Amino acid sequence: MKKYIITIASALLVIFGGLIAANQISSDETNTDEKLVIATSIFPVYDMAKNIAGDDVEVILMLPSGSSPHTFEATPKQIEELSDVDLAFLIGHDLDIWSEDMLPSDAKEILMDRDLTLMEFEDHDEEEHKEDEHGDEHGEDEHDEESHDENGDEDHEQEGEEMHDEHSDEEGSDEHDHHHEGEDPHYWLSPANAKVMIKTIRDELIEIDSNNSEVYEGNYRSYLTELEELNQYTEDKFAEPFEVVTFHNAFNYLATQAGFEIVATIEPVAGQEASAKYIESVTEILEDHDINELFKEPQLSENSLTPLTEQFQLEIYTIDPLGGTDQTSTYIDLIMYNLEQISKASN
Ligand SMILES: [Zn+2]
Repeated sequence: MKKYIITIASALLVIFGGLIAANQISSDETNTDEKLVIATSIFPVYDMAKNIAGDDVEVILMLPSGSSPHTFEATPKQIEELSDVDLAFLIGHDLDIWSEDMLPSDAKEILMDRDLTLMEFEDHDEEEHKEDEHGDEHGEDEHDEESHDENGDEDHEQEGEEMHDEHSDEEGSDEHDHHHEGEDPHYWLSPANAKVMIKTIRDELIEIDSNNSEVYEGNYRSYLTELEELNQYTEDKFAEPFEVVTFHNAFNYLATQAGFEIVATIEPVAGQEASAKYIESVTEILEDHDINELFKEPQLSENSLTPLTEQFQLEIYTIDPLGGTDQTSTYIDLIMYNLEQISKASN
């Protein structure tokens, strides 16, 4: 009997202890939950979200400044910091695929491409890269047959897919694939798109926290005015179209809006050193188009530039798809900085 009572007592102790512990956890959670917590995968979206959310919302940047979304791997500590996230703004299209493993399962994930028209990656790089791989395998003759304009679209697609599969097998990695085919995920690099993206942020904040809808609406309006100015500045920046060679294939949206043309990229797969054969094809483009300026990017190794700078007298400028540094401490500064660098290079 005594033994029985002790057993009940200890069972009750366990139950109550458990309840107290659970209670503590939930009250801790309530404390941190007072603030709405938003995660953003890349700096430009982080800055947009800060502008719309204001100071009473905690906004977390998932990709640390200086990292490339194409090569990023999160640490356990970074994942832990995201445990209270309510809402996440993501780019999608494989660019920030790592974010899926970082966010808590109950966080609402929002893609920022809502109401945007995305660009397809141009065939250019895919073709160059494919030529490169096939050239190694099948020799020069077949390589020549695959020149750009002679190929029908159907052929091209098949070849592209084949290349794509080979490539994934080799690399065993998903994060580079978007650079070969499909929709170009770098859509934030157009102020016209940014104007639409902040509308998505506003709408989602109001949805999750309607009590503060007036705050979000007011912040949206004043930031929209700033982005409209930036948008106009971008449209007017370059009077004459001109040609540039960028480091990785991130600037098609900005190019289309600002009025310059990207004729080649140094790294067909971001974060992966370009092959000698690929660089040879870039060399031809530099000569044909009389281009003497190239761009590097802060997040990626410059190694792919070396064979070109050894060969030519080139001026190297920096353009930055992500920002978050002293010079690019806001999204608006980031776009202004890039336009300035491209402007310098074009003169
Ligand atoms: Zn990229």
